[in-house]
Amino acid sequence: MWRGAAVRVLRGGGAGTPRSASGAASAQLRRLLENELEDIRGAGTWKSERIITSRQGPHLRLAGGGAGILNFCANNYLGLSSHPEVIRAAVEALEKFGAGLSSVRFICGTQSIHKDLEEKISRFHQREDAILYPSCFDANAGIFEALLTPEDAVLSDELNHASIIDGIRLCKANKYRYKHMDMQDLEAKLQDAQKHRLRLVATDGAFSMDGDIAPLREICQLAQKYDALVFIDECHATGFLGPNGRGTDELLGVMDKVTIINSTLGKALGGAAGGYTTGPKPLIDLLRQRSRPYLFSNSLPPAVVGCASKALDLLMESNAIAQSMAAKTQRFRSKMTAAGFTISGKDHPICPVMLGDARLAAVMAEDMLNRGIYVIGFSYPVVPKGKARIRVQISAVHSNEDIDHCVEAFTEVGRKHGALP
Ligand code: PLP
Repeated sequence: MWRGAAVRVLRGGGAGTPRSASGAASAQLRRLLENELEDIRGAGTWKSERIITSRQGPHLRLAGGGAGILNFCANNYLGLSSHPEVIRAAVEALEKFGAGLSSVRFICGTQSIHKDLEEKISRFHQREDAILYPSCFDANAGIFEALLTPEDAVLSDELNHASIIDGIRLCKANKYRYKHMDMQDLEAKLQDAQKHRLRLVATDGAFSMDGDIAPLREICQLAQKYDALVFIDECHATGFLGPNGRGTDELLGVMDKVTIINSTLGKALGGAAGGYTTGPKPLIDLLRQRSRPYLFSNSLPPAVVGCASKALDLLMESNAIAQSMAAKTQRFRSKMTAAGFTISGKDHPICPVMLGDARLAAVMAEDMLNRGIYVIGFSYPVVPKGKARIRVQISAVHSNEDIDHCVEAFTEVGRKHGALP
């Protein structure tokens, strides 16, 4: 065995040397992949990743020397990703419960902290029960197939998140796609869907590209009229929308009208990872029996559970963090509007600075980074053609000076590139 290892090292096959399979099929695959990658580059849709060498927070260090970069593009809405109490809770959970369970939940992967967190989530949302998933992507992938049959119908906003679209693809229900936040279209589709057993309207609570909030009051009224259930994805709402940060349903006064909530632990609630479904107990019981991403994937690591659990404690103790974020959002939106920019959405910490032109969005984002401000430009196909933008995300841990500095930089860069007069 040792001799074999020595020979491999001599041939350059030791640890750290990449191996590639030989043979015609591997060579063909490599060619196909390289062509496809070239197509992505050619289409201008290549996504590159900046490497951060510090913790997530309002001030970052980037690989290659960028230090003290002001960060305006994380979903760290409440600044809990690096909150000292959240980190301490993770360390304690790691020490007490170990690195991980090496198991799915129903075999030997459920610890007391998983049950406690599920109970806390249902109490936070005022629902009967909750079930944890490795991510909200998984929660969305797992719910529709488990719940809906070919006798049922699902009606989905056309701009719903990719994970909802994929989850719906996996189910055998009859599928309707209504125009974005268009209640006339939803009503027409609900009328058509009367022939089915169950009707489930599925919508993001807040849409992440536009920072706009679903008209949940109207959706719930239509759901009542046409005897439908309402599902919301609250990834960009949980923890900070509504007077107590419960989400879009609290903001719009329909907590008792929404049947199912899916959300993430990977954004405002500590930012580690994980997702969940909360709603009626029989639904949660069924998901534990049938939902494939829950049944066939490892349980959440204790440190991750510790983070989310502490984040929820902090939010249930006080809504001061959420209110501080709301005040900073208001400051950014009003100052940017006064400077002459158009900011899409309303009252949401996702503040898309609408620019229209894809190249303008890209060069302005690059120039913002040159001034120490990290923001991202989005263009087609992520958003519709002609609606390119720079998406700014506000966090409770930005200071007023950070916000003002960002507005000043936008104003300078906007003037330089002709986005402002
Ligand atoms: N739903 C929405 C609306 C999201 O924005 C995201 C993440 O970007 C997800 C679901 C997936 O959440 P997670 O990161 O927990 O998988």
